[in-house]
Amino acid sequence: MAPALVDDAQMHDAPPLTLQHTTSTYMITASNRCLEDEPQASSLALQHPTDILPDTGHVLSNRIDHLKIRPRSGYAKLTPELFLQRRANAIRPKFSTDSYTRALPRSSLRTGLCYDVRMRFHATLDEEDVHPEDPRRIHVIYQALASAGLTKLPEGGSELENEDCLMVRIRAREVTEEEALLVHTSDHWRFLTTLPDLDKASLLNLTLTGDSVFYNNQSFTCAKLSCGGSIETCKAVWSGQVKNAIAVVRPPGHHAEPHKSMGFCLFNNVAVAARVIRQGNPECEKIMILDWDVHHGNGTQTAFYEDDSVLYVSLHRFEGGTFYPPYPDGDLTYCGEGGGLGYNVNIPWATGGIRDADYIYAFQRVVMPIAYEYQPDLVIISAGFDAAAGDKIGECFVTPAGYAHMTHMLMSLANGRVAVCLEGGYNLNSISNSALAVARTLMGEPPEPLHDVHASPKVAEVVNQVIIQQSQYWKCMEYKSINNRLSANKIKARRLHDIIRQYQARALFDNHGIAPLLVVRPSQLASPTFEDQVLATPNYDKADTLIVIVHDSADLLGVPEPGKDTIQTHNSFVMDSAKVFIEWAVNATFGVIDVNVPKYVTPDDEDDSQGVGNSGVNDDTNTLMLQLWDNYIDLSDADKIVFIGIGEGYRNVLNLISLRDCVNRVVACISFISRMPLCAVNATRDENIGYWYHKHSRVYAPMTHDALQARKLKLKYGVIEGIPEDDLDSLVQAAYPRALAFITSKLSR
Ligand SMILES: [Zn+2]
Repeated sequence: MAPALVDDAQMHDAPPLTLQHTTSTYMITASNRCLEDEPQASSLALQHPTDILPDTGHVLSNRIDHLKIRPRSGYAKLTPELFLQRRANAIRPKFSTDSYTRALPRSSLRTGLCYDVRMRFHATLDEEDVHPEDPRRIHVIYQALASAGLTKLPEGGSELENEDCLMVRIRAREVTEEEALLVHTSDHWRFLTTLPDLDKASLLNLTLTGDSVFYNNQSFTCAKLSCGGSIETCKAVWSGQVKNAIAVVRPPGHHAEPHKSMGFCLFNNVAVAARVIRQGNPECEKIMILDWDVHHGNGTQTAFYEDDSVLYVSLHRFEGGTFYPPYPDGDLTYCGEGGGLGYNVNIPWATGGIRDADYIYAFQRVVMPIAYEYQPDLVIISAGFDAAAGDKIGECFVTPAGYAHMTHMLMSLANGRVAVCLEGGYNLNSISNSALAVARTLMGEPPEPLHDVHASPKVAEVVNQVIIQQSQYWKCMEYKSINNRLSANKIKARRLHDIIRQYQARALFDNHGIAPLLVVRPSQLASPTFEDQVLATPNYDKADTLIVIVHDSADLLGVPEPGKDTIQTHNSFVMDSAKVFIEWAVNATFGVIDVNVPKYVTPDDEDDSQGVGNSGVNDDTNTLMLQLWDNYIDLSDADKIVFIGIGEGYRNVLNLISLRDCVNRVVACISFISRMPLCAVNATRDENIGYWYHKHSRVYAPMTHDALQARKLKLKYGVIEGIPEDDLDSLVQAAYPRALAFITSKLSR
């Protein structure tokens, strides 16, 4: 079926200088011809038409005086309209629309807009419920496009209106059963065909028992239009009848699974469209679907999970599978199966509050490198605007400029063939502003500047984990070559964190006689990482005062070799933040137990599995701390004990205090954290522990930490102090004098 594009002929035959169609790019091109035709008017020809239109002939001649070009006789009487008309006539014989479209084959096309007012009839029958998937969603977007002058009111639209609209109207039509079955099961299709004839009670019952979806008698028709509209939009883009397009459609689609509706979605619009394009156009070998809706597009992932002809990339809130949809499938480890392995890229946010800079960072580090390597023939954007600032469901802060920049980057792919299909987005203001910014970008307007350019550390960490995961499948992912070199050359390389810990142990032994403390572990936990994990001074069990320091592995500050995967060792520095406390305690002849909390446990059989590994919280350290308390700390002679937790060690210390009776001997509990969330002591064992902790604790955190923005924190979080440093090592150095003063005051009582 040919795409239901309304005015192909109009588009190509339009007069070249109709104002609404003229972009500044065109003007400059046209003016080059002018330079030859009308040398004396050359300066004028470079003016943008909007500069010229409001002026009178008088002003024009003033400009010419200023530029010291003698006006031709009669110029003073030239009206702007006449001027444009004369120039158009001068151009036309030598520079036809044909040569223009040949010179700029895609940018000379217009952007398509698919919209059909009938899609507003799908609505909830529950009169009590103000449902966020509101029929007005598509209406407000259309209004925004019309108010901005990109298309025309009334919404009904007619073919004639295309003549002087900046956007070409793409007519929505109903998806056929045959098309829908390219993704969906026939049972699902049959189920939806029953909707028009059901009574209100049955429809309400389906709404009640369904997976976050509502139905009325019009739902089937609306869903068919939404899906068919998405197909026509993709077809118009693929066939080159528009340069790119946006489909303002509802109900959305990306949650719809092959066998069922869910998450406000009935048909998976984008998935069906991709299959239809692939089936009808063998030359369209690869399609990329970029899903920036704040929710994971579980249905789209399912549809193409074993298919390498569709690359699915999704950025979404995940939070361990607790954010909708409530499945583990949105995690970064879900990378496809069989032939589709490596063609599914999930970028799962661990929290809300994600901003422009975070999305841009993920685009620059993951989305665009993979897209360049994949080289799609067509890009479809699953464009939910529920990560937009103001959306109460998404709770993120993406601005219209952020969406514009993402669109702009994607337009560099697939020869500009980008089809944008609306998914979610529930704040009517946010979605209309965001969709307008996307539409303007598609049409060639440069994106507005971004005001937020620094990605947050928590997002950088997620992106890094995605890179490590995807480096198994993509050459461009920067760790790929490290893994290849390790496995191909069978180099017996050692992980640096183990080497550094070994060095620390050796130095502490040489300087202070500090030696490893024997910790009995289950045999499956044999690992070089644990060999020097716990160190202690010889007097740890006899000293009156015992300092227990639980800290992260030392960080390495290093300069990479340009263009290589190696790091310049002479420009790398070991950041050992625990060292100052150990030296202080040893000089004071206190007993010291030093516990290293590794971010990664090196496997015992490292040779077989060597490669870049994802870090994770090591639960084993909690068990280790309890073991240390029961077998060493509690049995020691010390009557005063100080806990110092640095980084992840903070959690382990709080866990120990919650589970063991420490309050009589522990006099101070000091913690240093950078970006990690605040932890509380657990009052299950001792209901007064919160009060005790508040009296005996200091938690040093960056001034910008979320916890310091809260008005009042409960006692169980302890006393938080802000430090004007962000990274952990600098923060420990800066807070050291204060921390020491606090410890000393507690020890002197
Ligand atoms: Zn959504």
